[in-house]
Amino acid sequence: MATKGGRCLGGEKKVSEGLLASVVLNGLSPTFEAQARAVGAFLTQCGEISVQAYVTLVRDFGEGEKLGRFLGPASERVWLKADYFQPELVSAQVEAFGSQVNLFPPGLFGADLCGRLAARLNGSAVLNLLDIDFSGARPLAKKAAYSQNLVAALALNNKPYCLALSKDWSSKPHKFGDKVGAAGKDVFATLAMGSFDKNRERSEIPRETSFDLSKAQALVVSGHGLGDKAAVESAAELAQKLSADWGVSRPVAMNAWAPLERLIGVSGAMAAPKWALCLGASGAAALLSGLSQAQKIMAVNLDPEAPIMSRSDLAIAGEAKEIILALKKLLDQ
Ligand SMILES: Cc1cc2nc3c(=O)[nH]c(=O)nc-3n(C[C@H](O)[C@H](O)[C@H](O)COP(=O)(O)OP(=O)(O)OC[C@H]3O[C@@H](n4cnc5c(N)ncnc54)[C@H](O)[C@@H]3O)c2cc1C
Repeated sequence: MATKGGRCLGGEKKVSEGLLASVVLNGLSPTFEAQARAVGAFLTQCGEISVQAYVTLVRDFGEGEKLGRFLGPASERVWLKADYFQPELVSAQVEAFGSQVNLFPPGLFGADLCGRLAARLNGSAVLNLLDIDFSGARPLAKKAAYSQNLVAALALNNKPYCLALSKDWSSKPHKFGDKVGAAGKDVFATLAMGSFDKNRERSEIPRETSFDLSKAQALVVSGHGLGDKAAVESAAELAQKLSADWGVSRPVAMNAWAPLERLIGVSGAMAAPKWALCLGASGAAALLSGLSQAQKIMAVNLDPEAPIMSRSDLAIAGEAKEIILALKKLLDQ
């Protein structure tokens, strides 16, 4: 597919020839018009992207007529009747179009589906998209990072490009399209409610509130390098045997291997223990700032060059799971 031209935002007219997009919107939400406006602004500024399909969740098909005026031209406008949000089923509908770009509105609905679809299709996902440049070999997407303090530029490797827009787009100039109603065919589908077990996909991690990691005297920190929930729980058992508290890095909490309350770092607890043992954590600044008051840091990491190693008083280059088992065995003896 040939692409040329500049950026979506900024002065230059961006051009991205031949890109086909599917757009997903949530007609169940009162913010529908703002979602459509954001998408309209993006498409206005990325004028050469053609919309293959608008896929819109609606409570009943009559809403299609009401909401349709906010959509631009597309080959198909799919109205999905649903009583509640069923991300997997919506993803399957969008996947069927095989578009190179899947575009999602600002907000949780868009971010959730965007991440799911990219993971499912082995594509690239960008949430809170501020800007994108399709002119290079790989699109360059910009998004706010570090609590809006920095703008990160991310090169997208894999198609489809799944893009969830930042809410800034809702206030940018847009046109909904001048061929509304004339272009595209309307397709009506009802999502198979009966086949979806709302409870099956849910697993709640009980909140723990009986501890305060900022007051921990000793801390075992489980990092992403532990690889799975079982290993993280094994590290928690080690902490117990050592009469230490137990904390985790962000990917561990994000993978639901541990409750979010266990998070150490800028987004979690700032700890000041006498010692901290970090197992399979790289030593990112965001984590280490939560340990900057620790008197001694010990680290186990497969990679001797990992940042945590040079920041530790004792660094062991090795397999963290093995060290956990060996320490537990020693303590049991
Ligand atoms: C705004 C913002 C806020 C953030 N806040 C926090 C925060 O509060 N806390 C936080 O932790 N992160 C936070 N992060 C994320 C942070 O930047 C890092 O991505 C995160 O700390 C990395 O966690 P990790 O080291 O466990 O995982 P990874 O970066 O995946 O590192 C895993 C490490 O384990 C090692 N490893 C792999 N396998 C093994 C093995 N078998 N045995 C031993 N070692 C192994 C690897 O060599 C690697 O060094 C934040 C990020 C942002 C953008």
